[in-house]
Amino acid sequence: MAAGSAYKTVTHQFDVVVVGAGGAGLRATLGMAEQGLKTACITKVFPTRSHTVAAQGGIAASLGNMGADSWQWHMYDTVKGSDWLGDNDAMEYLAREAPAAVYELEHYGVPFSRTEEGKIYQRPFGGHMQNYGEGPPVQRTCAAADRTGHAILHTLYGQSLRNNAQFFIEYFALDLLMSEDGACEGVIAWNLDDGTIHRFRAKTVVLATGGYGRAYFSATSAHTCTGDGNGMVARAGLPLQDMEFVQFHPTGIYGAGVLITEGARGEGGYLTNSEGERFMERYAPNAKDLASRDVVSRCMTMEIREGRGVGPNKDHIYLHLDHLDPDVLAERLPGITESAKIFAGVDLRAEPIPVIPTVHYNMGGVPTNYWGEVLNPTAENPDQIVPGLMAVGEAGCASVHGANRLGSNSLIDLVVFGRAAAIRAGQVIDREAKIPEVNEQSYDKAIARLDKLRHADGGSPTAELRDKMQRTMQEDAAVFRTEETLKSGCERITAIWGELEDIKVTDRSMIWNSDLVETLELENLMANAITTVHSAEARTESRGAHAREDYPDRDDKNWRHHTLSRLSEDGKVDLTYRPVHVEPLTDGIDLKKIAPKARVY
Ligand SMILES: Cc1cc2nc3c(=O)[nH]c(=O)nc-3n(C[C@H](O)[C@H](O)[C@H](O)COP(=O)(O)OP(=O)(O)OC[C@H]3O[C@@H](n4cnc5c(N)ncnc54)[C@H](O)[C@@H]3O)c2cc1C
Repeated sequence: MAAGSAYKTVTHQFDVVVVGAGGAGLRATLGMAEQGLKTACITKVFPTRSHTVAAQGGIAASLGNMGADSWQWHMYDTVKGSDWLGDNDAMEYLAREAPAAVYELEHYGVPFSRTEEGKIYQRPFGGHMQNYGEGPPVQRTCAAADRTGHAILHTLYGQSLRNNAQFFIEYFALDLLMSEDGACEGVIAWNLDDGTIHRFRAKTVVLATGGYGRAYFSATSAHTCTGDGNGMVARAGLPLQDMEFVQFHPTGIYGAGVLITEGARGEGGYLTNSEGERFMERYAPNAKDLASRDVVSRCMTMEIREGRGVGPNKDHIYLHLDHLDPDVLAERLPGITESAKIFAGVDLRAEPIPVIPTVHYNMGGVPTNYWGEVLNPTAENPDQIVPGLMAVGEAGCASVHGANRLGSNSLIDLVVFGRAAAIRAGQVIDREAKIPEVNEQSYDKAIARLDKLRHADGGSPTAELRDKMQRTMQEDAAVFRTEETLKSGCERITAIWGELEDIKVTDRSMIWNSDLVETLELENLMANAITTVHSAEARTESRGAHAREDYPDRDDKNWRHHTLSRLSEDGKVDLTYRPVHVEPLTDGIDLKKIAPKARVY
């Protein structure tokens, strides 16, 4: 008897099914529903609990409300921030469309902070400069105090409901349903609340499942950031792109990992070492504490290594806000004032906050073009599209962040590409066409996997394996990497992959079985972890967030291309490469301006 017959299954039909209700998923859902496409949004947590809710600092767009700015400068900063690994067409699209996307959010009702004249308030952020990087720092990051993600997410959820998108809340998406010839025909999900299985047949599936910060031991991201969409894509035999690029945010609270937004440095905060020195002035004379994240994280790590860390173990750094006007702190940074109190026991008006570089963002993910259409590159066609499948937000890799994302460029990525996916779907979906039948084999395979894990009766509890994976990633794929650490990472993660066969799940029920949810999440995390270490081991250069001590220089001749990693069922990772798109979309930008050069701040 096939495992599937043991599960009560409900079948649905939609034009579009969006998996994920963070900023990217909701913006896509809203755009689809606005055009009258019959749209479902599936989410494992209540929409307004998605990780986007935690975004603090803001959203980048060259509105020029608080000084001169242009989309060309924003594009330049993004290209440079990406360390010349981003795709120029996608980065142009992002920077050009950003102002319209932010005004759209304003009109949807996002309560942005305001200037005296009533315009949207904008603060400086790392790596965002005037005059093609010449400086000074530009005020480009639009903010709703330090709760920008919260404001955006709530607004988009309200608007999606208003446009009759249908939500399937606390449904856990298990796997993609793929046709024999490689098109996506839907997705299968488990209703956590009543234990039923749901087969969503759709003309287009949009993955908006967020990042995989939780592959690491210390991360600013929510415990739900487990890279589920990436896992589904890997299991469908499709590649993941640029997984070696993992961003460490300079200012996670020491010990707790909770984020202190870069907006804190945007408002005038600065870092010091044990000698009280503002060391960033030495490393980045122009941008100082507002150099881009990979740069600041590396400088902090070097200070600590050279014995100038603070605290009893000299293993962290101080972030000072104690010199700022308390009224500014209360108005612009109320959330982190609270976080510092709760998680570090510090009154930031009087004392510095102990901070350390903490995993924060995944530049890599599901490869797409700038419409969000998923790519399955071949040697003949590096831009070949997977019919019926899109990916947006942190799960996607368009690629606008290349080897390193600039702060406040993710929230704008979510809305620009969520919107782009909806525009594209409006163009390519044939409303008259029948919704595809589902390939039964694909369905059976997904159910068999669920069934196997549900009844797994080995000797290794999920939490134990997860802990091993997280510690391995933290130790072997960190801010600085070497051949030795990465080889060790590959071996250790591969060994843990083998141990998945011996996993132990204790709860067999189908109703709110968090043991099983965590096990499914661990499988997804492992697909991310294993592709990350293998991609990193192979890349013998330093670029953006990937800093190899044994290969300290960027090597454009050999390495200015995207890594594609395909994972087989037995945990083998196959790496191929795809060229970076060097042509911008239009002639609105001077190609000479965005040509690769040394990246100094
Ligand atoms: C603390 C913090 C602060 C940040 N601050 C900023 C900032 O100020 N500016 C900025 O630009 N960026 C910021 N970032 C980055 C940015 O917030 C994230 O990259 C972005 O919010 C990710 O959005 P998303 O829509 O891709 O995914 P998420 O918001 O992570 O949402 C993922 C969604 O997918 C759903 N999902 C996942 N797996 C499944 C599954 N198996 N089945 C069903 N549903 C599933 C979840 O339920 C959720 O709805 C911050 C990140 C963090 C962690």
